[in-house]
Amino acid sequence: MSEKILSRNFDRANASTLAGYRESGGYTAWDTARTMEPAALVDLVKKSNLRGLGGAGFPTGMKWSFIPKDHAGPVYLVVNADEGEPGTFKDRYILERDPHALIEGMVIAARAIRCKLGFVYIRGEYVQPWRIFSGAVREAREAGLLGEHFDIVVHRGAGAYICGEETGLISSLEGKKGWPKVKPPFPAIKGAFGMPTIVNNVETLACVPHIVNRGAEWFAALGSKTQGGTRLYSVSGRVKRPAVYEAPVSVTLRQLIYDYAGGVSHTGKLKAVVPGGSSAPLLTADQIDVTMDVDGCRNAGTMIGSAGIVVFDESVSIPDALMVVARFYAHESCGQCTPCRESTGWIYKMCKRIVDGKGRKDDLDTILDVAKRGAGTTICAFYDGAIGPYISYIEKFRAEFEELIHRGGPEMAPQTPQRSARPGEAGTHLGHA
Ligand code: SF4
Repeated sequence: MSEKILSRNFDRANASTLAGYRESGGYTAWDTARTMEPAALVDLVKKSNLRGLGGAGFPTGMKWSFIPKDHAGPVYLVVNADEGEPGTFKDRYILERDPHALIEGMVIAARAIRCKLGFVYIRGEYVQPWRIFSGAVREAREAGLLGEHFDIVVHRGAGAYICGEETGLISSLEGKKGWPKVKPPFPAIKGAFGMPTIVNNVETLACVPHIVNRGAEWFAALGSKTQGGTRLYSVSGRVKRPAVYEAPVSVTLRQLIYDYAGGVSHTGKLKAVVPGGSSAPLLTADQIDVTMDVDGCRNAGTMIGSAGIVVFDESVSIPDALMVVARFYAHESCGQCTPCRESTGWIYKMCKRIVDGKGRKDDLDTILDVAKRGAGTTICAFYDGAIGPYISYIEKFRAEFEELIHRGGPEMAPQTPQRSARPGEAGTHLGHA
């Protein structure tokens, strides 16, 4: 096991208080950063190879550098704490157990982008993290760490997955429906309230104090060639020790399952793994030597995403698992784009009837066809994310679906999915706007 950096305070009794955080060296990075020029801070983070740890994996320093230099009005920093990707629960640990790590990262980032006001958008269901983090913000304000130079507004979401998408989050923050917008313009040019805005994930910003304290080279050397540092992996499902584990981004999926999480539980035989939250294409048992960084997962045909790992042992039904995932996407589609709004509902219905033993001979090909047709046609990445599981579960475990369809009942003639409902009619769309 490697040195604990992001998780070093997780098991300390009073680490969520300002005094406790200071005992572990907290706010010494801010003492250093406040003497540095903003451009030097941006360069430092660029050299560290820190990449966004919320899902997109975009280089953090480069994102900070996109703020227009000649902008005269306010610039905002928005923290995406809307941790809603199924299988992911690591930002919750930071908010609850080490909230000042995020505050210190925010204060430093604010200096780098010349920002005086930041927002933390916390998932509505995260009541305890919201309470603890809000208390830490009050403490930091009373201690003068927040104030005129930079302050933080804590904002609670209402529990919509799509508000984890940065433009949807910004719309919600502005008091509108959490609907994503077409990019460009990107938030760094035109974001919250029409102003340049940097949206960063909780864990990403929690890395920043360590980079300031110990240097960009040290941080870069912890990771792989194109991504620095360690990261927090949420490991759940059929493992003996489900938990949040910190590991260098060069760790393999095999090491996380067997060395960190104690191996496969229930039957003890590995069947498949979701490597990066529910949107990540499934990996089979013979694909777990993948390196768990952005490029390693991409080369294996999947994505690291939010690093939410869900392990399936041999007893897990893949059609059942896909039906659960499909129900989630059908429910969470914001409904703006026709391919996303309609296809997610149709696909859930087809998955459900397969699981109910009423599957039709052509259902699998219809799901694959419907899924692929909508790719790249929608406003945001939600639908392209949903396609990952639809396609990979079926393509990698087709025989299991076919067996269920064959066993479930007599073959029926394929039917074209119905058109969407008009206002006042009973609808086929399961999502909400
Ligand atoms: Fe909404 Fe889906 Fe379109 Fe994204 S892709 S804007 S979630 S309908």
